[in-house]
Amino acid sequence: MPIKDHNLKLTREYAREMDDADQLSAYRDQFYFPQHKGKNAIYLCGNSLGLQPKSAKAIIDQELADWAEFGVEGHFEAKRPWFKYHHFFTESLARLVGATDKEVVAMNTLTVNLHLLMISFYRPTKQRYKIIMEAGAFPSDMYAMETQVRMHGFDPNDAIIEIAPRKGEHTLHQSDIEAAIKKNKNKLALVLMGGVNYYTGQYFDLQRITQLAHEAGALAGFDLAHAVGNKVLHLHDWKVDFACWCSYKYLNSGPGAVGGIFVHEKHAKSAKTFRLAGWWGHDEQTRFKMKKGFKPMKSAESWQMSNAQVFNMAAHKASLDIFDEVGMNRLAEKSLQLTAYAEMLLHEIKHISFKIITPMDPLQRGCQLSLLFKSRGKEVFELLQKHGVIADWREPNVIRIAPVPLYNNFEDVYTFYEIMKNLK
Ligand SMILES: *Cc1c(COP(=O)(O)O)cnc(C)c1O
Repeated sequence: MPIKDHNLKLTREYAREMDDADQLSAYRDQFYFPQHKGKNAIYLCGNSLGLQPKSAKAIIDQELADWAEFGVEGHFEAKRPWFKYHHFFTESLARLVGATDKEVVAMNTLTVNLHLLMISFYRPTKQRYKIIMEAGAFPSDMYAMETQVRMHGFDPNDAIIEIAPRKGEHTLHQSDIEAAIKKNKNKLALVLMGGVNYYTGQYFDLQRITQLAHEAGALAGFDLAHAVGNKVLHLHDWKVDFACWCSYKYLNSGPGAVGGIFVHEKHAKSAKTFRLAGWWGHDEQTRFKMKKGFKPMKSAESWQMSNAQVFNMAAHKASLDIFDEVGMNRLAEKSLQLTAYAEMLLHEIKHISFKIITPMDPLQRGCQLSLLFKSRGKEVFELLQKHGVIADWREPNVIRIAPVPLYNNFEDVYTFYEIMKNLK
């Protein structure tokens, strides 16, 4: 790249030109930004808690109004009848993760769903009981797997195989994942990994991992907390067995909002697949006969236990409507540019010492960049905060930033760079 062009890219004018050319730039106005000294904060934390869509309030208010007006009749009379509230999310979720309508449902929260899915898809035998996961997985996932393994009478130290980065490295080699699956193929029950690792931002090759797991006679499941709404997914075509996610990160549905699951049709349609049951998973036609004998719906809905948590789902609707309009392909395209721009600018910062541990290859990452500090990390994080940058600090020594294509712009990234550059 000629020096002149490069220097041009280090200017606010360049960032503004990029924003002018961005077809998605108007979506930013559909979200509330936290304020810092009377201006929008530089919000780079959508991987932790997405911003509030301005349309969320009207949808929540609608449910309150319908409750006031109809009482119990709201189950059928509400604008979005509560009886089938979960249906209002199905098509959007199917589009987001690349699934059929039979394969997804919005319900519960992530860790709860992970347990419910493991009840169905981690069915260890004396011969096949091992689980492969990534080292440094999110703690909730570690605890879930540890206790599932114990529940079945196995020792986590023996049953759980963690794939770790090589010495001196921070992310995983695909070839190491493959080798571990092949090596354990006679004892492997399940490969269960994050889609995008929360700490490093590394995105795994879900299709290839699934294929290898199947070749080893095991199943493949994924925690998509950091992948959904971030990467273009094709879970059905990739033959992924199951997945779960939360909706408060890239899906902007509010703190603790409803999670979602994917179960591949080949399992979801079968009455032979074991699931823990509640009335909302029972065949819709006969649900209110209140009879003995669980007859599961022939879809992911059969994993539902309880009736829909309307107030915990209303904001989810507001956000998914926006995703439907924009589409993941356009978001992913912008994301590629936005994150590459952040990376390029960060490489210009020489007076603070850190290393970007997120893979440079765009196929192996989403929005997020993780900056690893040997020292001063927490101090830099706090200084950024003081200057109106909302990022996130992860123990022991990482600042994560995530320029989110739905509402962040190039100028946000530029301003972040300028603040970093001027830190003492
Ligand atoms: C955010 C996150 C969770 C959070 O789980 P909850 O049950 O929603 O509290 C779990 N796993 C991963 C990988 C996450 O990133």
